[in-house]
Amino acid sequence: MLSYDVLIAGAGPAGCAAAYDLAQGGRRVLLLDRRIFPRHKACACGLTRKTLTALRYSVEPVTERVCHEIVLQQATDDASRREVRVRTPNLICAMAVRERFDAFCLQQTLAAGRNGGSVVLLKIEGIAAIREGGDGVELDVETAAGPQTFTTPVLIGADGSNGQTRRLLYQQHEPAWYARGFALEACVPYSVLTEPLPDGDAPTDLVFDFAPLPGGYGWLFPKGDHINIGVGVFAPSAESVDISLKSVTRLLLADYTLRKLGVDLGAIGAHVTGQYLGMGGDSYVPRGRVLLVGDAAGLVDPLTGEGIHSAIVSGQAAAAAVLSNAKDIASAYARQLRPLQRTLAFSARAARSFYRDPERGFRAMRHPLLRRIILKTYADGLPPTKLVAALIEQFV
Ligand SMILES: Cc1cc2nc3c(=O)[nH]c(=O)nc-3n(C[C@H](O)[C@H](O)[C@H](O)COP(=O)(O)OP(=O)(O)OC[C@H]3O[C@@H](n4cnc5c(N)ncnc54)[C@H](O)[C@@H]3O)c2cc1C
Repeated sequence: MLSYDVLIAGAGPAGCAAAYDLAQGGRRVLLLDRRIFPRHKACACGLTRKTLTALRYSVEPVTERVCHEIVLQQATDDASRREVRVRTPNLICAMAVRERFDAFCLQQTLAAGRNGGSVVLLKIEGIAAIREGGDGVELDVETAAGPQTFTTPVLIGADGSNGQTRRLLYQQHEPAWYARGFALEACVPYSVLTEPLPDGDAPTDLVFDFAPLPGGYGWLFPKGDHINIGVGVFAPSAESVDISLKSVTRLLLADYTLRKLGVDLGAIGAHVTGQYLGMGGDSYVPRGRVLLVGDAAGLVDPLTGEGIHSAIVSGQAAAAAVLSNAKDIASAYARQLRPLQRTLAFSARAARSFYRDPERGFRAMRHPLLRRIILKTYADGLPPTKLVAALIEQFV
């Protein structure tokens, strides 16, 4: 049985963020993933200012565009369109392609390590079992060469919304706090677009469009040579979660693409992919020696559907808990995670109110001060004072 200081299941943004800090802190880390990188992951890969700030290194080499303006759209009763454009001198969101972003972050992570710290990557077929004892964890995995068992004081579950760690930890049941969103995306090359676009957008507009479905939005995220277009539900209503998730269909995305870009996704052979997003993590309480991070811990923001920031911050929080040498690792992680959970709880309240009546949110966006505050919250995170947070909750 091979032993490591920390085992991490999943080499996405959450797993890499944790592994990077642990290796820099002198720990020997084994990073396990089911896929070979570079690998596709359904994601629009919009990187907000707070995401870029949280990362330990610049991702400029894989940044395809920076956006200083966002366009918020909403249908009106007479089927026309309402639009608010918000421009700032500083970038709001950087655009990358997820496959390249993840491969780059993994490369930085594998090169990390100080004072004997290092990260080793292992491709596995899956996790067979997790056995947790008083002072350690045994992990059985399947590899192409056969079954293998590793031991560690701490296992970090960073294997995303569809991962195995959370399910094994909760005996094959989803925990009560865990909720799901769902989103579908496709890429449309600029070369197949004819201008002007049928719905009046510019090809380089960063669009959040609240018209196509309740509890979520459609988006246009402009990259270097294509637009990432998608539809997703992030705040499914409690009464009809399944109905809302099922409203995100290939047909909806195809119709939306035709309306926004004038393009038939089938005719251009576009690859449509989707995935669940992990939500509800503001109520997650870490326990034992298996720490969940990122989508596995349900940490996607329910107002915006943004999950890369939470993945990175929670990965770093788990690493900080390990590096603190605390006896009770779960409590140490809970303390590190609390600021992010507070932000997500705020977002959950704002999402419930916003998606119930988006019209109200749009009215708030017309007020210059509120518009500035809302945009800053999206780009940088929770507003610094309770007063400002209360203002947003009141109006959004
Ligand atoms: C269509 C769509 C668009 C999105 N757009 C954005 C966006 O623009 N901006 C944003 O911030 N967020 C966006 N998100 C959310 C974002 O993709 C996730 O929140 C983010 O990827 C979470 O990172 P993670 O590291 O927790 O999990 P993941 O990125 O899902 O990584 C998990 C890793 O674990 C591996 N894995 C899975 N199972 C196992 C296993 N059993 N054993 C070992 N490894 C395993 C996977 O191969 C993967 O590499 C979007 C999501 C979707 C579905």
